[in-house]
Order: sequence, then C-alpha cells, then structure tokens
Amino acid sequence: MSVHEQDRLYALKKLNLLDTVPSDSFDRITRMASQLFNLPIAAISLTDEKRQWFKSRVGTDRSEIPRSDACDSEVTETATGLTIPDLLASPRYKNSVLVESGIRFYAGAPLTTREGYTLGAICVLGNEPRSMTAAELAVLQDLAAMVMDQIELQRAYGRLDPLTDLPNRSQFAVDLQEMSRDHQPTSVYVLFSEVVDVASMGSLQRVMGPAYVEELARSAGRLLGNTLPEGGRVYHLGPCQFAHLLIADSDEDVVREALALREALRRLTTGEAAAVMVRPAVGIARLKLEEQNSIDILRTAHSACLDARLTEKGVALYSSELDADHQRRFQMLVDFRSALEQPGQLHLEYQPRISTRSSETVGAEALLRWTHPEWGNISPTEFIPIIEQTQLARPLTEWVMRSAIKQAASWHAKGLTMCMSINISASNLEETDLVERLLEEMRMHALPVTSIEVELTESALVDYSPIASNQLDALLKAGIRVAIDDFGTGYSSLAYLQEIPAQVVKIDRSFIQRIEQEKRSRTLVKAMISMAHDLGYSVVAEGVEDHQTYAFLDSLGCDEVQGYFVSRPLPPEQFEQWMATSTQE
Ligand code: C2E
Ligand code: CA
Ligand code: CA
Repeated sequence: MSVHEQDRLYALKKLNLLDTVPSDSFDRITRMASQLFNLPIAAISLTDEKRQWFKSRVGTDRSEIPRSDACDSEVTETATGLTIPDLLASPRYKNSVLVESGIRFYAGAPLTTREGYTLGAICVLGNEPRSMTAAELAVLQDLAAMVMDQIELQRAYGRLDPLTDLPNRSQFAVDLQEMSRDHQPTSVYVLFSEVVDVASMGSLQRVMGPAYVEELARSAGRLLGNTLPEGGRVYHLGPCQFAHLLIADSDEDVVREALALREALRRLTTGEAAAVMVRPAVGIARLKLEEQNSIDILRTAHSACLDARLTEKGVALYSSELDADHQRRFQMLVDFRSALEQPGQLHLEYQPRISTRSSETVGAEALLRWTHPEWGNISPTEFIPIIEQTQLARPLTEWVMRSAIKQAASWHAKGLTMCMSINISASNLEETDLVERLLEEMRMHALPVTSIEVELTESALVDYSPIASNQLDALLKAGIRVAIDDFGTGYSSLAYLQEIPAQVVKIDRSFIQRIEQEKRSRTLVKAMISMAHDLGYSVVAEGVEDHQTYAFLDSLGCDEVQGYFVSRPLPPEQFEQWMATSTQE
C-alpha cells in the first residue's frame, strides 16, 4: 500500500463515519441527486481498504460492494469525476456486481477533504446506457461539495464544546497525535485547570444557579485563552475543567505560570457565596510525546490537579510516587474484591489474650491477613483503612465474621473454650442487619454468645448514628460483649464512653509501649486502668512486649494482656499447638 493510501485511510478512519447508521443529512443529498438526474440509484460511498461502503443510498439494498468492483473506488484513486456511459462496454466493470444487478450507467464525483484526501464518491447509476454533459457533471460536483460540508460540519461539531465553543477532549486527542507526528523536541507541559472541584459543583449550582456556573466556565475559558500565545488552544474538558499545553524551559517556570493562572482564576468569582465554593486548582504534567496518548496525559494531569487540591497553593506538579500511591490504592480495591471470592488469599491469625490473674488464655483476637497474588503479604494497617471507606467494608467483615466463628466453633468442639474477638469497622455499625447476621452465624455453629466479643475502635464509638446505636443495643441485648479498641487515641473522656454499652477497654499499644521509657505514660496507664475499673470496665493492655511491662500492668490490676510478650498472632494450627504447650506449663 502506498504511503498516500495509508494516510488517506487514516484520514478516513479518523472521521468515524464507516459503519455508522444512516443520517438524514446525507440521505437528503442522495435523494436530491437521484431526482435531479432522473436516475433510479444514487449513493454516497466511502472507499475502505477492501470495500466500498455506502453511507447513504437510494434505489439499492446493498450496504457495500468489493472495492475492485466499485467505480467509486476509481474516483477515489484518481480524485476526479468519472462518467461511464455503458458499463457493459467497459473491460474493467463488465463483470462487476454492478452489471450483474442490471446497472449500465455510472457517474461519480470525488469527496475530497480540505487536506486533499479523497474519501469516496457521490454517484448516480442507471439501468440504461446514457451520457452526461459537463454541466451535469458540475452539478454532481456541487453535490459532492455539499456532502463534504456536511462531513466537516459534523467533525467540527464533535470537537467543540457547545457551551464555550472551545475544542474538547476529542480535539485534544487529534492535536496531540499531530504534535507527536511532528516530533517537537521542546519541553511540553499539560496544565489541567479545574475552577470548581467536582464535590462543590452541586452546591454551587444550587446556590448560584446553573447560569452562573455556565458563565463562570465561559469566562474561565476566555481568561485561559488570553494567557496563551497566538494559536494556543484551551480545551474544555468538563463542566469547569480545562487543559492547555505550555512550552517551558523548566519545571519551576511552569509552576510559576500555573500559580499566576490560579490566582487569576480565583479572581473570576463574583459574589460572596461563590468565593467560598470556587477554589481553582491547577495540575501540571510533563508530556512525553512518543510515550503518551491523550487519555494517559489527561489522566496524569488530572491526577496532579487532585493533588493540587490538597495543597495550600492549589498547584501541583505530577508526582509519579503520589500517583503510584493512588494507583496502588485503586488496584487494591479492585483486587480485594477477587480476594474475597477466591480461596487462598485471605486468612485469619489469632493472637492470644491472657489473664494476669490466672495466666490462662482467656481469648484470642482474630486478625486478617491478605496474601496478594502479586505483592505478597499486605499489612492490614495498609489495606483495611482503604477498604473500610468503600462498599467492600461489609463483605470484608462478613468474611472475617464467618471464618472466625467457624474457627471458634471448631475449637469449642475440641474443648478449647475461650472468647474470640472480632474487629468491626465503624461503617459496619451502619448495617441494620449486622447483629442479626452475627447471631445467625453463631446459631448455625451452635456457638454460645459468650464465646464472641466485638472490638470497635474508640473513634467509631464517639460519633455514632441512630442505626449504630440500634446495633450496639442489639449486641447488648444478645449478651455479646463489646470492647473499646485502641482506647486513648481518640481523645474522648471515659465519662462520655460510659454511655456506650461496652464492657471492655483495650488500652492502645502506643501507651503500653512507652511505659518502660516514660514516667508520664506509666501515670497515664495507671489512671486509665483505675478509672476504667471504677466505671465497671474490664481492662486489656495491647502490645505488651516484655516482662517488665507485663509485671507493671499486673501490679496495677490490669485484667488481661495481649502482645508479642505472650505470643504473636498465629495461624490456627500453631495457635492450637501454643495452647497445648502453654496449658502444660
Ligand atoms: P488492632 O485491632 O489494634 O490489632 C492489634 C495489632 O497490634 C495487630 O496488628 C497485632 O499484630 C499488633 N500487635 C499485637 N501485639 C503486638 C506487640 O506486642 N507489638 C506490636 N508492635 N504490635 C503488636 P495487625 O494484625 O497488623 O493489625 C493491624 C490493625 O488492622 C488492627 O489493629 C485492626 O485495626 C486492623 N485489623 C486487623 N484485622 C482486622 C479485621 O479482621 N477487621 C477489621 N475491621 N480490622 C482489622
Ligand atoms: Ca482490635
Ligand atoms: Ca487495638
């Protein structure tokens, strides 16, 4: 295939016309052609690699014919009008599908773009031989021009934002492609400006009205346009989102420009209410012309813009680390879904809780472990806070509840009696059927309610909703103990926590681990234990790592301890072994 033919096909494909549905604007022209020449068949056809495809046709049912049989394709190749008075007399077409279907006469005019590529032809066909005058051919050529106007119009329409008349995302893609063909060696940056963040858009529209927001978008577009050199383009991407390209010598230069731009955008607002809600941010990404496509670069620049929102200056240069961080978080959410469904990735480990009085194991905390197929073990401190904020919080806790109860039941049957602690996220308390499901699971395994304890963090318990309050009451009614986890980190007073139906306080590891070095921590822990006891709580110390700490806590009357000093969290088989040896001692 010749280079020109390659380019021609590329230009054709870019128009996205092939294999589209019929459209009135083209059909009107074919109907007119058929009537003007008083011929039964007329068509607008496009020359694809191997076929002639009809965008519009009257008088025939065919939607395409082989390119080798098509007179239209000859028009495309020669880029000039063509009349064949009698197809039967033409060596090239006498055996074509056209003649087979009874056609004898052909006249066609080329459809040529402004760039000089012929896409196809508009043609009229008849069942009898005839001739065509130069004036008639000129009419056909006029019709061809009308078709091209229509195509150009559609192209422009699809690439302009109707609100601001600025080029849109599709145009950005086309321009970027053309730029990368020209291989500019200079440093090109993409600036992504967002005048109002997506979260505030709704309220801004409600307070100021949609017309205000539209006017804001228009003036932002104008302002950005005025900052650009002649020929520079501002692309309108979202309701109040724009992008433009900037050539600069260094990152510092671009950042300086972006800061000035943001300041100018900020000054666009009118009205006090708007000033509160309109917070422009500008993200900057450096463009690697060969490597990036338009979707990638816009995503990168948008990511920088989201980072910019979190900074005081409202401007940020794309950081691959930050982005990798977001991507990892996102991938984690995607992968956790499959981890929940496929066996082998998730498992629980159990960390013993021992009584200081009897030195016996009175309980175990179930702790979730995730072995990611690619990344290996991921700490729950990394993935749980991310999962917790999504819809996946429910299936996560469901999975933990089921597995832990199943394990507890199996130990119970073996005579290992102890209380299993299950961690519940704050958002789980918003599930109206949480306790119901928990109780059902326990009933199924014939597990007594005293064998399960639920751990909720102090912060989850501080600000709870009516639904959460119902679930807490249901736990109390069912006789399931509630422990306040990570106690001391949420700055809430015990007096306040008294209103929550909990029976156990677990003092956070951060206090316990400072006991050895800090007198202040010793005083704090002492006060916490005595206050908790006064209020009727049982006290557990978390993160006990050595004997001195254990002895100190014991001397204060702390009821239970948990920590590496006793044991690390263990897989079920090892936990059983540990129980067997520890009770022998
Ligand atoms: P947490 O509930 O405070 O769990 C105790 C954490 O302290 C566990 O970390 C445990 O391995 C660790 N730990 C225990 N003893 C010691 C010690 O002596 N020294 C030190 N340095 N650490 C000790 P892990 O397993 O990494 O879990 C971290 C957090 O992830 C948990 O903190 C909990 O908030 C969350 N988590 C774990 N499993 C689940 C779960 O099934 N559901 C929910 N919602 N959260 C969970
Ligand atoms: Ca816990
Ligand atoms: Ca804890």
